[in-house]
Amino acid sequence: MARYVDSKCKLCRREGVKLLLKGSRCETVKCSIVKRKSSSPGPKSKRVKKLSEYGIHFREKQKLKRFYGIFERQFRNYFAKSERKEGNTGQNLLVLLERRLDNVLFHFGYGLSRSHSRQVINHGHITVNGRKVDIASYLVKAGDVIKPKNKENCIEMVKLNVDSNKNKALPSWLEIEDSGLEGRILHLPTRDDISIKDIQEQLVVELCSK
Ligand code: SF4
Repeated sequence: MARYVDSKCKLCRREGVKLLLKGSRCETVKCSIVKRKSSSPGPKSKRVKKLSEYGIHFREKQKLKRFYGIFERQFRNYFAKSERKEGNTGQNLLVLLERRLDNVLFHFGYGLSRSHSRQVINHGHITVNGRKVDIASYLVKAGDVIKPKNKENCIEMVKLNVDSNKNKALPSWLEIEDSGLEGRILHLPTRDDISIKDIQEQLVVELCSK
């Protein structure tokens, strides 16, 4: 009998990477990707379709968009911005995506997933340097201080999320107070700090430059 696979987990399976779309479940053995890797070896019932050259490039781009939860138009804007910046376009692109406020909140544990972090921001629970920011695509800068709004319900909600994420490792470019209620950007991320590990950004650049 075919086993039910959640639609978000199906996306991970299609892209072949953990996109972390289902909050704390993604870090457990219940993760569909983990289960698949640990399943008994041997011939699989379905044949894996060989991708064309275009397909390989396209899949890398889709992986990136799904990981950070952005649409095509936003992606195109990020790409154009990366091209205008000095240096390697692919790395510029990854750094821009990593600097998104929803991604940073996810690292701090203020949201259970990137999409949940977007909700937390959109509902006006977050401040950056003391001012409310309700735009998930806000790009953080070195020295930014990120906190929940000084209201009981915002603090309670963030505390709850931080508690359920307390075993999460924090990247070295970020810092959080022991209370979990104040996060700081120590410096901008480098290529080594990018959350998505299994990505060939050069293929994305080749596709988008055509
Ligand atoms: Fe599902 Fe999360 Fe695992 Fe992806 S990483 S397969 S969303 S549990």
